Amino acid sequence: MAEESVDVLVVGAGLSGIGAACHLQKFCPGHTYAIVEARHALGGTWDLFRYPGVRSDSDMHTLGYSFRPWAAAKAIADGPSILNYLRDTAREHGVDRKIRFGQRVLRADWSTPDSCWTVQLRQDDGSTSTIRCSFLYMCSGYYDYAGGYQPRFPGQERFRGRLVHPQHWPEDLAYAGKQVLVIGSGATAVTLVPAMADHAAHVTMLQRSPTWMVARPSLDPVGARLRSVLPLRAALWLTRWKNILFGLFVVRMCKRKPQRMRELLLGGVRHALGPQADIAKDYTPRYNPWEQRLCLVPDGDFFDAIRSGRASVVTDQIESFTETGVTLASGAALPADIIVSATGLKLAMMGNAELFVDGQRIASAQTVNYKGVMATGVPNLASTFGYTTASWTLKADLTARYVCRLLNHMRRTGARECRVPQVEPGMALLPWVDFSSGYFQRAADLLPRQGARKPWKLNQNYLSDVLALRFGSIDDGVLRFSR
Ligand SMILES: Cc1cc2nc3c(=O)[nH]c(=O)nc-3n(C[C@H](O)[C@H](O)[C@H](O)COP(=O)(O)OP(=O)(O)OC[C@H]3O[C@@H](n4cnc5c(N)ncnc54)[C@H](O)[C@@H]3O)c2cc1C
Repeated sequence: MAEESVDVLVVGAGLSGIGAACHLQKFCPGHTYAIVEARHALGGTWDLFRYPGVRSDSDMHTLGYSFRPWAAAKAIADGPSILNYLRDTAREHGVDRKIRFGQRVLRADWSTPDSCWTVQLRQDDGSTSTIRCSFLYMCSGYYDYAGGYQPRFPGQERFRGRLVHPQHWPEDLAYAGKQVLVIGSGATAVTLVPAMADHAAHVTMLQRSPTWMVARPSLDPVGARLRSVLPLRAALWLTRWKNILFGLFVVRMCKRKPQRMRELLLGGVRHALGPQADIAKDYTPRYNPWEQRLCLVPDGDFFDAIRSGRASVVTDQIESFTETGVTLASGAALPADIIVSATGLKLAMMGNAELFVDGQRIASAQTVNYKGVMATGVPNLASTFGYTTASWTLKADLTARYVCRLLNHMRRTGARECRVPQVEPGMALLPWVDFSSGYFQRAADLLPRQGARKPWKLNQNYLSDVLALRFGSIDDGVLRFSR
C-alpha cells in the first residue's frame, strides 16, 4: 500500500493544534492536513489536568482564540469550561474530524532530495506506522505528558497517607475532613489551596520561597460595562485589546520599576490578608515581579482561605517525610493525611519526538530560534510556543497565521523547502527563556537558544510579534527557499 501523504501534519490536538487547524482551513484551503494526537481526547492541558479548582490564570479574552472570542461572563474560567470551549471550536470548524487519536509521533526524518518529512507514529498497541508530509507543524505543548516533576523527598516511602501529583489527580481522592499538605507555591498550589480548603479539615501550603501574587476579579468589571453599552462583538474585541495592552504595561512596569511594583503587589497582599500575616517571610519573593510567572488569585480566593483559618502558609524546607507528615528544617512537624506535590512540570521539547535532517539527529538545544516559530537547520518545520508573560494563545494564533502565510508563499513561488540558515558566527546566543522558574532552569540544556537581535530574538511582546509575524515579509532575506 502506498504511504499516506499530507501537505501539513499538525502534531497535537491541544489549544495550539486546534487553533492551527482552524487557521489552515481558513487561510490554506488548498493544502491537505491531518492532526495526530497521542492521547484519546482533544484539549491537551485542559483535558489532562483534573485537580480541584483547575482554571486559567490568564484572562480568557486573551487565552481564547482571536477568531472565536471568549463570550462567557467569567474572564477567569475553570478547566472544564475551557475544555468545552476547545471542543466546541473543534466541532464548529470541523477540525475534530481531522484528528487521529492514539497516534504518538516518535520520530520524524527530513529528506532534502524528496523535500518531505517521514513521520513515524506509534499506536497504543505498540504497532507503528508512517505518514509523509511536506510541512511538520509541532503543537505538542511544552511539557512531558508522562509525568510531572517529582523530586524524591527523604523518607518518602515511610509516609502512610497518599502522595499525589496534580498532573495525575486520582479520581477517587477523598479529602473531606482530611489534613492536606500542598508542597509548592506556583499557580497550581495557589489554585489547590482554596479549592481543597472548602472541604478539608485544613490545608497547609508548604513553600521554600514565596511567589508574587495578585488578586483580580474573575468577572472583569470594565468588560461587563463594555458589554452593557456596546454590541457584543465590539465589546469582546475591546476587552481583548484592553487586556493585551494592560498586560504589556504591567510587564513593562515590572522591568522598568521593579521596586515600585514590589510595593504595589505587597500592598495588595497586605490588604487582602490583614495584619496577622508575616508578609516579609511568607509573601515576599526573592526575585522581582515577572521574573517568574505572576500568580493570579481570582477574587482573592486564596487570601480568603488563609484569612478564614481554613488554610495556612509555611515557608520552610522539608527535612524528611515521616509516617504522618513531614518534619521541617526548622524542627517543626506538619501532620498530613494527603500530600500534594505541586512541584511543577517536566519540560519536553517537540513532544519528545526525535528529529533527523538527512540522517543527522537534531537536538533542540543545538538550534537557534527564528521569529519564535522555526529553528536553524530544520527545514519545513514550525512549532508553537506561547508567551511566558502573556496568554499562550496570543502567540499560538500569530504563529498559525505566520505558518499559513509561509505555506501560501511557498506554493505561490513553487518553493518546496524553506530553511533557516545558521546564525552568523560571533552573534551572542542567549537562553531561550529568561525566566528564573525552576522548570525552565531544570530544562536549560533541552531548550533552543535565541540570538541577540531580530529575527533570532524572541520578542515576548504581542505588538512586536504582530508586526513580525502578521505583516513582516516572509521572504526576509534570512529564510532560504529552494525549489
Ligand atoms: C495547569 C495549567 C494551567 C495553565 N494555565 C494557563 C493560563 O492560564 N494561561 C496561559 O497562557 N497558559 C496556561 N498554561 C499553559 C498551557 O499549557 C497553554 O495555555 C496551552 O494549553 C498549551 O496548549 P498546547 O496545545 O500548545 O499544548 P498542550 O495543551 O500541552 O497540548 C499538546 C498536545 O500535544 C499532544 N502531544 C504531545 N506530544 C505528542 C507526540 N509526540 N505525538 C502526538 N501528540 C503529542 C499532547 O497529547 C497534547 O494533547 C497552563 C498550563 C497548565 C499545565
